[in-house]
Amino acid sequence: MTQRDPRAVLSEVFGYESFRGDQEEIIRHVAAGGDAVVLMPTGGGKSLCYQIPAICREGTGIVLSPLVALMHDQVAALRLAGVRAGALNSAMDPEERREVERAYREGELELLYLAPERLSAPGTVELLRQGRIALFAIDEAHCVSQWGHDFRPDYLRLGALAELWPDVPRIALTATATPATHRELTERLHLDRARHFVSSFDRPNIRYRIEPKAQVRQQLVRFIREEHAGEAGIVYALSRKRVEQTAAQLREAGIDAVPYHAGLPAEERFAAQTRFLREDGVVVVATIAFGMGIDKPDVRFVAHIDLPKSVEGYYQETGRAGRDGLPSETWMAYGLADVVQQRQFIESSDGDAAAQRNQIEHLNHMLALCETTDCRRVYLLRYFGEEAGQPCGNCDVCLDPPKLWDATIPAQKLLSTIVRISKERGRTYAAGQHIDVLRGVGSERASQMRLDELSTWGIGQDLSVAQWRGVVRHLIATGLLESRGEWGVLAPTEASRGVLYGGEKVEMREEVLARKAGGSGGAK
Ligand code: ADP
Ligand code: ZN
Repeated sequence: MTQRDPRAVLSEVFGYESFRGDQEEIIRHVAAGGDAVVLMPTGGGKSLCYQIPAICREGTGIVLSPLVALMHDQVAALRLAGVRAGALNSAMDPEERREVERAYREGELELLYLAPERLSAPGTVELLRQGRIALFAIDEAHCVSQWGHDFRPDYLRLGALAELWPDVPRIALTATATPATHRELTERLHLDRARHFVSSFDRPNIRYRIEPKAQVRQQLVRFIREEHAGEAGIVYALSRKRVEQTAAQLREAGIDAVPYHAGLPAEERFAAQTRFLREDGVVVVATIAFGMGIDKPDVRFVAHIDLPKSVEGYYQETGRAGRDGLPSETWMAYGLADVVQQRQFIESSDGDAAAQRNQIEHLNHMLALCETTDCRRVYLLRYFGEEAGQPCGNCDVCLDPPKLWDATIPAQKLLSTIVRISKERGRTYAAGQHIDVLRGVGSERASQMRLDELSTWGIGQDLSVAQWRGVVRHLIATGLLESRGEWGVLAPTEASRGVLYGGEKVEMREEVLARKAGGSGGAK
């Protein structure tokens, strides 16, 4: 049987006229039996990259996808387009499952969606052997990376596909991979012969804005009313309670807002989602559970009222704005309290020390994005391994450059205090103790350890505790300091040598310095 032509499938099955970006090249490569690693931003059109080759090739395309809810949506959409698709997951009843298994065995399916954990369930490999496999697609492939932001242990088993089916092409796809994650997923999935397709992650129609948190709900209402009245948008919050409170407050302010989180009854969630998709100008206030697989092209804004846990998460969530390519905006308010709360959350979680450090690292990169004094887009693209070149002209920093404050001398004072205490007293402390030394605040420990005899004792009285906290946080955010362990013990990084000995400058946002609120324990 000859293969169907990808272009014919694109128009006849999906009703589109032309491929986008790298799609055609990826599809032809995989349809011809090659392995591929695809890095493409949210909304870039990853699904077609495996759906079309699966339809073109003989046999069934097996799609490993982590989200059961999403799986069903995809299968339903494919069936509507006339594609023979099915799914196997633990939420199905046995009868349904048997029917899908039979259809697969008898070669009736073009696509079969599987949750990765199914692969290790008894009988699954045997079942797959009884049919003919066109390809394996590994969606959200960054989940295999232990140092990524969304590790899922079940993904580790997917490396075995290379040995079990050495002749079946495999395509791994993700919208969020830093260069390190890209390398790791290639290795762990044994994709050493794959071609790599890396699209630009830039979303030029999205404007990025991040501002200090004061009265966040009022700020949010102002943002929506004054700049996006009557437009569709998503507001992300971290907890269910905050989702509900915020939705209620927006409604009081006359904004058509609906809450969405995993704790709501299914009907209510479904109703919220349907209204958002079908009506104009609905604002969904949601936890991050909302948005995956929701394909609404004209979302005009995405707002965050809590700090996301990673730049990857932030980029994925903000990426849901403006899929239609029209001007869209993302807005976030962040404050010291966010950082403190998230660090505490991480430190009290039951992950091992390495996993916690990994999460703190992700959080610090997120903080660095908030505090950057350069173009936000340049920062974001560089984070994902892309050299962006010029400032973008479409982010808050470019449009309204922050006032800067030269923090070189305070940074040097702080760094040398830490270095001295470690060298001369053999001790490490958290931020609070170092700030006490700088401000010359005595204590039992200070006299016991003779901290008051250090040459940096009292040389930082010109700054308040809150301002020193701001300096500490900035140095952590920019990778000059590390905060370690349960107590947040401070340690200078290799990069700090440039500031201490190499004449490098440290510049901070003046507003960070001026901020009084939340002075307790910013960087802990
Ligand atoms: P991703 O998985 O990369 O986030 P999707 O595969 O969900 O993106 O695609 C995003 C949207 O773009 C979907 O509505 C999809 O139908 C549409 N799309 C994808 N490829 C094309 C194309 N070549 N022409 C027109 N629309 C497309
Ligand atoms: Zn910019």
